[in-house]
Amino acid sequence: MRDTFDFPDEVRDMLDAGALFAVNHSAGKDSQAMLIALRDMGVPDDQILIVHADLGEVEWPGNLEHIRDTAGDLELIIARSRRTFLEMVEQRGMFPSPSQRQCTSDLKRGPIQRELRRYLKANPRFGGRIVNCMGMRAQESAARAKKPALRFSEANSKAGRTWYDWLPIHDWTEEEVFAWIAYAGQKPHWAYAKGMSRLSCRFCIMASACDLTTSAKLNPDLYRRYVELEKRIGHTLSMSRRGLEEVTGVAA
Ligand code: SF4
Repeated sequence: MRDTFDFPDEVRDMLDAGALFAVNHSAGKDSQAMLIALRDMGVPDDQILIVHADLGEVEWPGNLEHIRDTAGDLELIIARSRRTFLEMVEQRGMFPSPSQRQCTSDLKRGPIQRELRRYLKANPRFGGRIVNCMGMRAQESAARAKKPALRFSEANSKAGRTWYDWLPIHDWTEEEVFAWIAYAGQKPHWAYAKGMSRLSCRFCIMASACDLTTSAKLNPDLYRRYVELEKRIGHTLSMSRRGLEEVTGVAA
């Protein structure tokens, strides 16, 4: 496990100036390790805010409890979109695609940014400064590898705000993530022990066949709803364009 943590100069300046560090927390292992590391490396608790995008019925049971159990007394706010994932798919007549992840922008990024803007306005002690921390890692995909670890957000740096998007664990390996969780004496979300490799939506458009199969067995009721939805709209969740039952071999 690495014992140092790089704070880019801009982030260090923001930390010293008393900025808010918003920790995007999905309840997954990467968010959990990122939070542990940020606190371990000296970001004070009174400068940390956890923000969770609640995806309702499509996210794993126990997500909020897991965040609360592992985050201690840190303040937590919840961001919700105006419509659910399944409503979005039903209305569009198709599932989102990996290249146009409307689900991420509409259900996570948009609602989270809206809540953070509100929070900053209501808490002037941060001087409008915010470092928006996300747990994406280069190892996860080619698209994530291309993302800059630090980006000044022109779009959000308005109305007296100074806003950076930061990926503090962008270059970490999966082994390092689990090592940091163990180092803190914590456990990852229960779904990992049941065989899931990632903790996203219970049925994610980018999930592997193995994860979809594990999830189908763990979540038979929700699985049935996805399979019914696929048949009703004539469009599949999987990028392979095969229906869920064909991908998983699990009959709904
Ligand atoms: S976890 Fe997957 S399906 Fe859910 S919002 Fe993210 S990309 Fe979309």
